[in-house]
Amino acid sequence: MSTTLDAIELDPAAFRGEIIGPADSGFDVHRRIWNGSIDRRPAAIARCAGVADVIAAVKAARASDLSVAIRSGGHSFPGYSVADDALMIDLSPMKGVRVDPERRTARVQAGVLLGELDRETQAFGLAVPSGIVTHTGVAGLTLGGGIGWIMRKHGLSVDRLLSIDLVTADGEFVKASADENAELFWGLRGGGGNFGIVTEFEFECVPLGPQILAGPVIWPMERSGDVLRFYRDWVAEAPDELMTIIVHRKAPPLPIIPAELHGQPVVMVICCWVGDLEEGERFIRPLRDFGSPVADVCVPKPYLAHQAMLDPSFVPGRWYYFKSCDVAELTDEIIDLTMERSLQIESPLSSFPIWQMGGAVSRVDEDDTAFNGRGAGFTYNIGVSTETADGFEQEREWVRSFWSALEPWHQGVYVNFLGDEGADRVRDSYGAAKFARLQALKAQLDPDNFFRINQNIPPA
Ligand SMILES: Cc1cc2nc3c(=O)[nH]c(=O)nc-3n(C[C@H](O)[C@H](O)[C@H](O)COP(=O)(O)OP(=O)(O)OC[C@H]3O[C@@H](n4cnc5c(N)ncnc54)[C@H](O)[C@@H]3O)c2cc1C
Repeated sequence: MSTTLDAIELDPAAFRGEIIGPADSGFDVHRRIWNGSIDRRPAAIARCAGVADVIAAVKAARASDLSVAIRSGGHSFPGYSVADDALMIDLSPMKGVRVDPERRTARVQAGVLLGELDRETQAFGLAVPSGIVTHTGVAGLTLGGGIGWIMRKHGLSVDRLLSIDLVTADGEFVKASADENAELFWGLRGGGGNFGIVTEFEFECVPLGPQILAGPVIWPMERSGDVLRFYRDWVAEAPDELMTIIVHRKAPPLPIIPAELHGQPVVMVICCWVGDLEEGERFIRPLRDFGSPVADVCVPKPYLAHQAMLDPSFVPGRWYYFKSCDVAELTDEIIDLTMERSLQIESPLSSFPIWQMGGAVSRVDEDDTAFNGRGAGFTYNIGVSTETADGFEQEREWVRSFWSALEPWHQGVYVNFLGDEGADRVRDSYGAAKFARLQALKAQLDPDNFFRINQNIPPA
């Protein structure tokens, strides 16, 4: 017997998870992803319980001549995790995490979210470098590189990757590591979902916490010019233990922020110090002392609490739009432009980060991984959010215009912060030489470009 959906035939006996078609009750739940502005209807959703399901789904899609969209955490900005009339291969049920405290490694299945991984590793005083919002997927984040709060000390997610299990476009199971399929392992550390469906990652863990020194120091937004001028000189001397993110936004109504500031435009320097706490206090002191901040909530706290701090700013289901670029440094012109544009933010939900890069990330050789841009000084991820379609268009225009005004200083772009921006932008994010190497790898593994609903690297 087979479950016949309109477009695809899959034998339930060959499937441990669930196949959901447009007429099934779960369809509208499972086709939705983090970005509420994405509303697409796949031909079917294959919710995989394990590797055998992934193999079956790939083979069924090929046999039915369907394209596939791969969903793990569902946080793709442009919504590549779902596509009209495609088979959505949904790995989110695959939640296994096994930490080996002696070897300091973690095996992590593709459906695991950052907060779930952190919870398991922190039980042993360990961590894997990842991102800054707990409901993001480990899979998509890692495959693009993985930048986050501890990267300046411990590197990108890909810098701690030991091995990967993958199902290819032919439905074959392969492994990749430094010793096995080394070129594929190189490509997977930044090349995204172009080479196959990753079912499991193995990471090296680092000792961390549980207490760190972290949180925002906050000033009124009209002080942003002075604050950023002070900040850029102060942070130039920062050791790897410190990572900072600058946020311009209207202050959200959170308990950590004084009530009188709620809704007021502010600039925050959010710190994360992952070393000796007293040393951290000493290093951060000049920032706290600068220009009478209106709030200072940079305090000792559990690493897990800091990892969840930005969750309320990125609630699933709202409408989001981002455009990103790296810059080498915060020049006077960039600082002035940033303040001028940030003062125009309308939506109380919009919150955009400027990431301090460098540290351990910049000390890995640029050719060691497909991830590109290790020399970036700062990463702008200009973004907006609205509750619904109301006002979204206007906010999106603000992003585009701000991003264009920064064009004279654009240096590159992190592939995981790209929207649906066309082939040239994907090429730009890797640079010509890396892109050519990735295209050669793609030609070997996926010559038909079966995995193409992504930041695509077409076969050479
Ligand atoms: C709220 C939010 C916070 C973020 N914070 C950070 C951050 O701190 N650091 C950072 O580096 N990035 C961050 N990002 C960007 C993030 O890394 C990308 O959006 C990433 O693609 C999300 O992965 P996912 O598994 O959640 O997404 P999905 O939408 O499920 O996947 C995105 C794409 O990744 C590929 N992919 C996913 N899973 C697999 C798999 N198992 N096998 C093969 N290919 C796969 C596919 O091409 C897929 O289209 C953030 C994004 C959001 C929305």
